[in-house]
Amino acid sequence: MFNSLSDRLTATFKNLRGKGRLSEADVDATVREIRRALLEADVAVPVVREFTAVIKERALGSEVSEALNPGQQVVKIVNEELQNVLGGETRRVNLAKSGPTVIMLAGLQGAGKTTLAGKLGKWLTDQGHKPVLVASDLQRPNAVTQLQVVGQRAGVPVFAPEPGATSEFDDPTGDPVAVARDGVAHARAKLYDVVIVDTAGRLGIDEALMRQARDIRNAVNPHEVLFVIDAMVGQDAVNTAKAFDDGVDFTGVVLSKLDGDARGGAALSVRSVTGKPIMFASTGEGVNDFEQFHPDRMASRILD
Ligand code: GDP
Repeated sequence: MFNSLSDRLTATFKNLRGKGRLSEADVDATVREIRRALLEADVAVPVVREFTAVIKERALGSEVSEALNPGQQVVKIVNEELQNVLGGETRRVNLAKSGPTVIMLAGLQGAGKTTLAGKLGKWLTDQGHKPVLVASDLQRPNAVTQLQVVGQRAGVPVFAPEPGATSEFDDPTGDPVAVARDGVAHARAKLYDVVIVDTAGRLGIDEALMRQARDIRNAVNPHEVLFVIDAMVGQDAVNTAKAFDDGVDFTGVVLSKLDGDARGGAALSVRSVTGKPIMFASTGEGVNDFEQFHPDRMASRILD
């Protein structure tokens, strides 16, 4: 993950090694290389512009350190600014004070929502919670079955409309808003303390999808709305994130598929563009390939 970005930055800093003092030309050259590395990693152009402007200003500023040589000082500045762009502090899940915590998942089709539902359920179970997954994706024919398989693998129960059942909510072609609402009522009755609502995605942004997600949000009033984004997508990530932010006003971001050769663009852009924190990272297809997102650790990993 982030291999080429990481390599490019490391190579850039190597040029500064051993320099006793950085001239303005040194700083300019370094900032130029950083800009190129970020653009190649598909970081959104306005984010790159802002990021490099801050680096330049700080590197030329009066930050003198007894302990660090000028090259190390630049690495430190870049590390701190990467942390900033990734979100600063780790953002933890907002849990309900009483009654079940409702977490809604949103994102494009194939982003990794259903897989994430299992991972998040398992992670919460490991922390002593009693979660239930709710199958509100009634768009794809296999989505409900897929969530049931995911739930089984994760050892987390699934609330799903059952084919042939009599309730109006139990019709797989039925109303995802009603399923979500019913799922929360079910959790309340059965004393589950976290409800994870999987929702339908589409291949691209469309108004019907947004309306449905918004209707589900309004119906179950979630404590968290997690927007799941495939970290492999390039510059498009920003437009998708903006559209979902406008459409459902999500509370946090999950970066999925960080195990692939994700170039880093989505990770480094989404926070700046939406102002919403990255909360989790998905790093594989397995139920345990999942971690809380720590901006400081991620920044250090990129500069490793
Ligand atoms: P949804 O349409 O948003 O529910 O997406 P899915 O959960 O069905 O995921 C789409 C595909 O991506 C599936 O084949 C998953 O196995 C795969 N997938 C999901 N998360 C990850 C991840 O973190 N890493 C990798 N490599 N594959 C993932």
